[in-house]
Amino acid sequence: MQSEIELYRPQNLAEALTLLADYGPDGTPLAGGTNIVVELRDGHHNCKSLVDLSHLMELRGINQQNGYIVIGGGTTITELIDHPLIGAHAGILREAARLFANPLVRNRATVAGNLVDASPAADTAPPLLALNAEVQLMSQAATRWIRLEDFITGVRKTLLQPGELMFAIRLPVPSDRSAGAYNKVGLRKADAISVLSAAVMIELDDAGLCKQTGIALGAVAPKPFRAYEAEALLFGKVLGPELITEAARLAAEASRPIDDIRGTAAYRKRVVAVTVRRLLTKAVEVLK
Ligand SMILES: Cc1cc2nc3c(=O)[nH]c(=O)nc-3n(C[C@H](O)[C@H](O)[C@H](O)COP(=O)(O)OP(=O)(O)OC[C@H]3O[C@@H](n4cnc5c(N)ncnc54)[C@H](O)[C@@H]3O)c2cc1C
Repeated sequence: MQSEIELYRPQNLAEALTLLADYGPDGTPLAGGTNIVVELRDGHHNCKSLVDLSHLMELRGINQQNGYIVIGGGTTITELIDHPLIGAHAGILREAARLFANPLVRNRATVAGNLVDASPAADTAPPLLALNAEVQLMSQAATRWIRLEDFITGVRKTLLQPGELMFAIRLPVPSDRSAGAYNKVGLRKADAISVLSAAVMIELDDAGLCKQTGIALGAVAPKPFRAYEAEALLFGKVLGPELITEAARLAAEASRPIDDIRGTAAYRKRVVAVTVRRLLTKAVEVLK
């Protein structure tokens, strides 16, 4: 671990933004610390100053505004599990939170920390991608919204600029004719890094035809991604078993997994096809 790091505890958001502006590339936001403290200890991250956001109430909370569910960047994974708006409108995100790490980590880990860390296996990313989420980046000078899909650009790479923090995440409230399903495959049932995580959302029109789909995958490519070819196949059709199987095959084809200690690339591709098929089938069942 580095020996000399300055730790700042701003009292409010304005103070935090001033510190981040003043320190620029040398100022690193600190939230739950469940990633960054481990990286500092292991010498994988260098920073001169940490700006602790963990106690800022401006970054906490979940509410509904203008057709969106808005989640403060500092919201913890435990808070996602417990919040009624997430249960009512973003069940796939709740399920991902429920399967995330262990209770101790979930009580500290934040949604923004998970997305900014941009691990290929970040578990909040697939459900948020399937729900068409955007992230709000804030600096002293400006605020901007970016689609989550564009925000994560590669393995541990994002569009976050020095001086910025992730203030919030928002997702359009899904219609009543929508349903979703989520699953995480790990080497054990709890406290496991994902071998694969997958989230699907479907919306049917009044005639029962597929109006909108989100199929998102984690841990099987350099970054969590949407399987657009699979989604396009479903558009405007009745979601029967053969079509679902073909969409799942296309999702597997779009994945670019690697061999690692948790599984081979071939195994992961196979699991993508099986998982996406099951999740789409489950979501269709809910809407019957
Ligand atoms: C034992 C263990 C188990 C884990 N299990 C899982 C798991 O199952 N699934 C999973 O996805 N992850 C897992 N993780 C990884 C980690 O817990 C998550 O990625 C967590 O969400 C990170 O959030 P944090 O608040 O702790 O981030 P921190 O460690 O505080 O920060 C992570 C990164 O995000 C930046 N950051 C934090 N907040 C902001 C903000 N508001 N604006 C801008 N930048 C910000 C920091 O500068 C840093 O670069 C695990 C970690 C541990 C130690």
